[in-house]
Amino acid sequence: MILGCHVRMTAPDFVEGSVREALSYGADAMMLYTGAPQNTVRRPTAQLHIAGARELMRENHIPSGNLIVHAPYLINPANSVKPEVAELAVQFLNSEAQRTHEIGAKYLILHPGSYTTSDEKTGIRTVISQLNKLDDLPVDLVICLETMAGKGSELGTSFEQLEEILSGLRSTENYGICLDTCHIHDAGYDVRDFDSVLDEFDRIIGLRHLHVIHLNDSRNPIGSHKDRHANIGEGSIGFDALYRIASNRRTESVPKILETPYIGGKPPYAAEIEMLRKGEYDPEKLNSLRNAL
Ligand SMILES: [Zn+2]
Repeated sequence: MILGCHVRMTAPDFVEGSVREALSYGADAMMLYTGAPQNTVRRPTAQLHIAGARELMRENHIPSGNLIVHAPYLINPANSVKPEVAELAVQFLNSEAQRTHEIGAKYLILHPGSYTTSDEKTGIRTVISQLNKLDDLPVDLVICLETMAGKGSELGTSFEQLEEILSGLRSTENYGICLDTCHIHDAGYDVRDFDSVLDEFDRIIGLRHLHVIHLNDSRNPIGSHKDRHANIGEGSIGFDALYRIASNRRTESVPKILETPYIGGKPPYAAEIEMLRKGEYDPEKLNSLRNAL
């Protein structure tokens, strides 16, 4: 079970600190933002302690595919209403792809964007044309388009839409998919029957294009189009279904990343990873974080 979580990337140890944080939770995978998720201000990679991070990963037998970068969520390559927004997304993605590569990560997660006051077809056409403007990407870098919950005018809410985007891109080997369990549940897929979801994914997109899973419970019922993550076992997906996803043989080699909320200002990941590795739900583990307030 390749299991990790969102980790911080902050001074003084930057990426080396991110790897150390992940290891402290019993994780063998991790995901970070190369700077604040809500802006595009970025520090040069030479300052990010990358050599130390690689050394730590080597010592702990963590391959580069288990270190994942998430692009900031404010960039919107689907915005045809304000072309300067989509252009900024391209500019930023060029530098983010380079940074991801320099950090030594293979996967860069990207939200396909929102079509705002335009329409779905125009949005899809805009994402495709903007991504096709990117500089040539490093050969071993894969931009993973994330499945979305369908809040507002978000794209990426169905496998069909994602396939349509993927099939329009000029460098197909540089693109893939990140599947978020909370998002697809909120978009209307029944992840409690994960094998059926995988069958559908395979039929429409192809399972070989699935590179990362975001493993999150959801605060809302199926089909609610909300996108609010819950802690493992505390939402409407539930522990048993999330455990079945984490341990599914067909996605054994795909890193699963928790993006569940902090509890009382503290990360819940050590407890959640332990429960998932054991396959045993213990609500007291998360409650004890809550009660320690
Ligand atoms: Zn995301």
